[in-house]
Amino acid sequence: MQASNPPSICVSAPTLPVAGSDFAFPVRRIFCVARNYPEHAKEMGGDGREAPFFFTKPADAVLAVPANGPGRMAYPSRTANLHHEVEMVLALSSGGRDLSLEQAAACLFGCAIGIDMTRRDLQADLKAKGRPWDVAKGFDQSAPIGPIHPMTTAPTRGSITLAVNSAEKQRGDIADMLWSPLEIVAELSTYFELKAGDLVFTGTPSGVGPVERGDVMSAAIEGLGAIVVRVV
Ligand code: MN
Repeated sequence: MQASNPPSICVSAPTLPVAGSDFAFPVRRIFCVARNYPEHAKEMGGDGREAPFFFTKPADAVLAVPANGPGRMAYPSRTANLHHEVEMVLALSSGGRDLSLEQAAACLFGCAIGIDMTRRDLQADLKAKGRPWDVAKGFDQSAPIGPIHPMTTAPTRGSITLAVNSAEKQRGDIADMLWSPLEIVAELSTYFELKAGDLVFTGTPSGVGPVERGDVMSAAIEGLGAIVVRVV
């Protein structure tokens, strides 16, 4: 019996624009750090002293937010408590395993503003049952990210803020991170062989909260400008 040819399919990698360039950064994987700011760790029920930990989102969760106008995020299904978490995002141009801090520094392509959107109601239920977070964290468009700003060193201080409809909800400083950007990359590389195209969300300051359809989120990080995302 003759096998028929499989149908041809076309799969394209999600990309993010690079500030000041026509280059599109191809997104390979999205890693995220949880509880990397002490005040947010406390508001999530921790004591602010435990070690941060990792989870992931699929690359397809990226929503590229243009520099010059609002991104549009569709309110997701299966939640009634969609939360914002503003975070600095690291973009890697190379990787490796078991990286030293010096080697981690050499992997940086640039940094961007991201929002780790979370179905908080589902996450609370999954936590209570000891189940994986995927459906709470890795849904479509759960990773709005602005243009990547090429830089050789990630900021280690500077304000990070998020406002909903012009009312400030989150304010922190990059300097408050429990793990610094380089420590995150080094630690992550002990679990995964990091590669070019990987993104790393570096955690959120306190003040996370819900958004509704029609709300406008404005996220800013000192040195990286600002992004605007409308929930529709
Ligand atoms: Mn987060």
